[in-house]
Amino acid sequence: MKIAILPGDGIGPEIVDEAVKVLEALDLGIEMESALVGGVAYQVHGHPLPPATLKLATEADAVLFGAVGDWKYDQLERSLRPEQAILGLRKSLELFANFRPAICHAALAGASSLRPDLVAGLDILIVRELTGDVYFGQPRGHRTATDGHFPGSEEAFDTMRYSRPEIERIAHVAFEAAQKRKAAGRAGRVTSVDKANVLETSQLWRDVVTQVGLQYPDIALDHLYVDNAAMQLVRSPKQFDVIVTGNLFGDILSDEASMLTGSIGMLPSASMNARRQGLFEPSHGSAPDIAGQNIANPLATILSAAMMLRFSLNHESAAQQIEAAVQKVLARGLRTADIHSTGTVCVGTSQMGDAVVNAL
Ligand code: NAD
Repeated sequence: MKIAILPGDGIGPEIVDEAVKVLEALDLGIEMESALVGGVAYQVHGHPLPPATLKLATEADAVLFGAVGDWKYDQLERSLRPEQAILGLRKSLELFANFRPAICHAALAGASSLRPDLVAGLDILIVRELTGDVYFGQPRGHRTATDGHFPGSEEAFDTMRYSRPEIERIAHVAFEAAQKRKAAGRAGRVTSVDKANVLETSQLWRDVVTQVGLQYPDIALDHLYVDNAAMQLVRSPKQFDVIVTGNLFGDILSDEASMLTGSIGMLPSASMNARRQGLFEPSHGSAPDIAGQNIANPLATILSAAMMLRFSLNHESAAQQIEAAVQKVLARGLRTADIHSTGTVCVGTSQMGDAVVNAL
């Protein structure tokens, strides 16, 4: 087992250090190699995703990623900005399936902006298609013509596009995830989110998901329009089990769902390809506002390492050990500043990592 460690910018290095600490404590014999990515890679190598970093990521079984980006790079041309590294990795590794769990740990229900009874025990999984949709559809046009289309035009457009095979493969991922969750006691239900009342791509999406669903008679399927789904997520989030949706709607809904849980600093994510190779990263960004202060919450990254063990490295028991250790630390009342409340103990980034190692 070999993993590429790409800490990136901002709080990335601090939080990834803690996840590496936890992986080392498990002593699973995983080979780890680090490389620069994002703004730091641009500064040293002139590109946010240098060839050596891409090669390391491509050859590894999995990538543990921190975060990239800083406002100081906002003036760079788009192709050299740190965030391009993430898009480049998704494309090169063909990471088409993004898993974003939104889990509300019982001990943290009070940190949500919703009433605790609405979110306590929440456990939903958003499966977002990651390599299609309006973010990748051609042609694209912009009035500043960075891509050469329509110089000087006051009009801008992007093309929303999906093909049957793209929808089929993400639908299978969602139904299989629902089956695994059902085996672990969950409802066994997929909610497909689209805008089929308006968009042709969404009509195709709905038709194909419905057809794929026939192959999974043990899993219930329903469909929601995206505006209703956004509303239902804050009205009664526990009604959902697995949500499957396209790239644009998934981008927005997964951020909305993450805030239901109280802290974005708690949520892991995984992006997988068909070969079970994956990129595992916290759902949040590089948080330049708190970088270097030892106050960032490392739990999202530590839980991403658990997802990596589960999905790419076939180490379910080790994944569960990490998740149980995190629960134990929270139950003991330890909190980083973002989730701290009266009656709990505020600790720093490295102390939180140490506490998880001790709990292991
Ligand atoms: P952000 O997620 O970095 O930060 C939003 C807020 O949440 C900030 O107040 C931050 O301090 C806080 N926060 C985030 N993670 C935290 C943690 N682990 N512990 C405690 N608090 C935490 O989003 P942003 O401010 O919109 O973006 C900052 C930079 O990150 C931008 O350059 C953006 O492009 C980049 N970004 C990168 C990724 C990625 O690498 N995948 C994702 C999103 C944003």
